[in-house]
Amino acid sequence: MQDVERVRADTPGCTRVTHLDNAGTALPPAIVTDTVVAHLRAEALRGGYRAAAEAAPRLAAVRSSIAALLNADAEDIALTDNATRAWQAVFYALPFGPGDRILTCRAEYASNVIAFLQVAERTGARVEVVDDDESGQMDVEDLRRRMDGRVRLIAITHVPTQGGLVNPAEEVGRLAEAAGVPFLLDACQSAGQLDLDVERLRCDALSAPGRKYLRGPRGTGFLYVRPRLRERIRPAVLDLHSAAWTGPDSYEIDRTARMFETWERDVAAALGLGAAVDYALSLGLGDIEERVRDLARRLREDLRQVPGVRVHDQGVRQCGIVTFTVAGMPSADVHHRLAESDINTSVSLREYARYDLGARGLPDLVRASVHYYNTDEELRRLVEAVDGFRRPGHR
Ligand SMILES: *Cc1c(COP(=O)(O)O)cnc(C)c1O
Repeated sequence: MQDVERVRADTPGCTRVTHLDNAGTALPPAIVTDTVVAHLRAEALRGGYRAAAEAAPRLAAVRSSIAALLNADAEDIALTDNATRAWQAVFYALPFGPGDRILTCRAEYASNVIAFLQVAERTGARVEVVDDDESGQMDVEDLRRRMDGRVRLIAITHVPTQGGLVNPAEEVGRLAEAAGVPFLLDACQSAGQLDLDVERLRCDALSAPGRKYLRGPRGTGFLYVRPRLRERIRPAVLDLHSAAWTGPDSYEIDRTARMFETWERDVAAALGLGAAVDYALSLGLGDIEERVRDLARRLREDLRQVPGVRVHDQGVRQCGIVTFTVAGMPSADVHHRLAESDINTSVSLREYARYDLGARGLPDLVRASVHYYNTDEELRRLVEAVDGFRRPGHR
């Protein structure tokens, strides 16, 4: 990436904190905050509906921007309050019956697994976890062996919340498509840091939040749904925006991905998300991906040099999430000590990813997730702080 100084100048938070929690919430560029605040002011001065009418073309453009990010059509995009709602909108619309099989991966996120378990309990469907290969990524050969006529869904996490792994989603997509099985991809940690293309991924649906690597506002998310899936399923819930009341006893469901939206929304936040996506597109996702990957690789190398530190990221292909533990110090303490030095990290709890951290016998992990605006100097600050913890006299 050419201009790290410029993107830092665009990011007010860079002057205040060493922000290594981009997988949690990234620092927004000023244009995102300004867009949100400007719309809130317009609502306050002219009324929310009038402000929304004035912003209608820009709100429509948010879907186009997200479509450009994913190489999709604007009609395939639904705007949601968060990624979980986006994912749920598709998952809870799928029909399951006794003996139906849901295939997922070890890296799967807790909320998704809880939904699988609830639906399995209700319908008699079965949840199966595909093995990892020796690198720790999802084993596509094991997935292939498990495919049969009872598989109703393949739902996996692209990049887990708890590590730098990038799962081989494109191979999974090709396999799912060949079998005619819907493929639901949780792209919460890959959107905004990897160059996503739904034509390459071959996913039928994809969910992502605004606040993580995309650097958008909190309380935003989106859903991509391929037309062939929209033709097959009906939303579990409808309102006067996702459907039209066409006669006393009739209604018609919207044919676009809007079928998964509701009428009321935080317009300011949605516009802020659009600004965040446009900002990412202006930098180029290929360049973002490369810089994030290189910074994270250097951080792993440097952390491995610190006695007592173990780095836990797996996979053939790795990204911007770096997870580690420090001998003799609980991860929550490491996180708090770092926060005292204005270094933001987070803790990946075991209960967020039991299939993965449970199987590997790992405790909670410290997560340092880098973004393109981070610098080598900031990484050095983290490594030195962690190194300092084991010296006598550290508090
Ligand atoms: C953060 C995250 C989610 C949930 O996203 P929300 O916007 O909080 O609903 C789902 N899956 C993964 C892998 C995540 O990291």
